[in-house]
Amino acid sequence: IIRMTGVQKWYGKFKVLSDIDLDVQPGERIVVCGPSGSGKSTLIRCINRLETVQQGRIVVDGIDLTAAKRNADAVRREVGMVFQQFNLFPHLTILQNCTLAPMRSRGLAREEAEALAMKYLTRVRIPEQANKYPSQLSGGQQQRVAIARALCMTPKIMLFDEPTSALDPEMVKEVLDTMIGLAEDGMTMLCVTHEMGFARSVADRVIFMADGQIVEQAPPEQFFGHPRHEKTRQFLGQIL
Ligand code: ATP
Ligand code: MG
Repeated sequence: IIRMTGVQKWYGKFKVLSDIDLDVQPGERIVVCGPSGSGKSTLIRCINRLETVQQGRIVVDGIDLTAAKRNADAVRREVGMVFQQFNLFPHLTILQNCTLAPMRSRGLAREEAEALAMKYLTRVRIPEQANKYPSQLSGGQQQRVAIARALCMTPKIMLFDEPTSALDPEMVKEVLDTMIGLAEDGMTMLCVTHEMGFARSVADRVIFMADGQIVEQAPPEQFFGHPRHEKTRQFLGQIL
């Protein structure tokens, strides 16, 4: 459902992604980890065309992102993204946050969009917060709203960029549980996270990045049990 081949990206003279080849199958759950600055965020931002690349090819659900500019809108309808900072609209209620994009870009009627929003707010277990504003919610609740908002676009792929790293520890679990629920429902997911418990129990594959390259990728048992590369061992030594 995602195919990146020979992707290279520079910021000026600085090479941020180097020779990235990545294939993701429908329903696959991937965890991306690696040191700060290794290009993890850049990699997943390329998948919904928040970033463009200078070389190589990226095809997402049959949409060639490296072909034409107009494909950016098409791919963002298929790919949901959740960030470290929740990025909710502060002046809109939770319900309005969830209905805005489906009404604007999918052309849903308000009633339809609201029904969909309530379905997903129920799924992330905060339907009772629908008429509050983001500032009235805890961080964990806001992040669950961000997940529900992304789901309201009925994406085929969900991207997560360190969704729990801005949260107080006691709120991490509720967000991870929501992500585990999504995984159990068969969502294709790419998650940048340092939650290695989540990686072990949920990921089909763990990808380790360093210096803009995919250094190692393996199923979690192999990745954690028998990391092959020195850089992977060093990284795991630091975070585990
Ligand atoms: P972190 O774990 O800290 O989030 P990361 O692996 O997500 O790191 P990226 O955010 O992808 O790393 O950044 C990779 C490199 O690209 C970093 O060295 C960063 O400084 C650089 N970089 C990111 N965005 C830009 C930009 N807009 N202009 C120039 N350099 C950038
Ligand atoms: Mg990052």
